[in-house]
Amino acid sequence: MTGARTPCINPRCRRTFKADGGSDEVVCGKCFRTLAEAVRSEHRRYWREIRKWDRRILRTADNLKVTRMAAIRDRLSWQLALHWDAEIKPRLIAPDKPESLDAFLEEVGL
Ligand SMILES: [Zn+2]
Repeated sequence: MTGARTPCINPRCRRTFKADGGSDEVVCGKCFRTLAEAVRSEHRRYWREIRKWDRRILRTADNLKVTRMAAIRDRLSWQLALHWDAEIKPRLIAPDKPESLDAFLEEVGL
């Protein structure tokens, strides 16, 4: 028994990840790269912001400020979750229509 594995959310993908107790939904790098650039950069932007606030929280001693910053950080992770559910998951679970259209638009530079 080597512990639970979390599968990539793309049902046609066979990759799994070591379950770390964090998110129960993950996408592998290969499937992530099939998404349109706009979707990927939005996703990365949320993560970048969340990490930025995490670092600020760790550096701050003032409890009141920490509470406020934690609220901002929580809102960002909520937005990240919404973005995941609205933009990433549907494209990987049923990628046929939206993804091919996005790929086409990206190809022609729109
Ligand atoms: Zn995958």
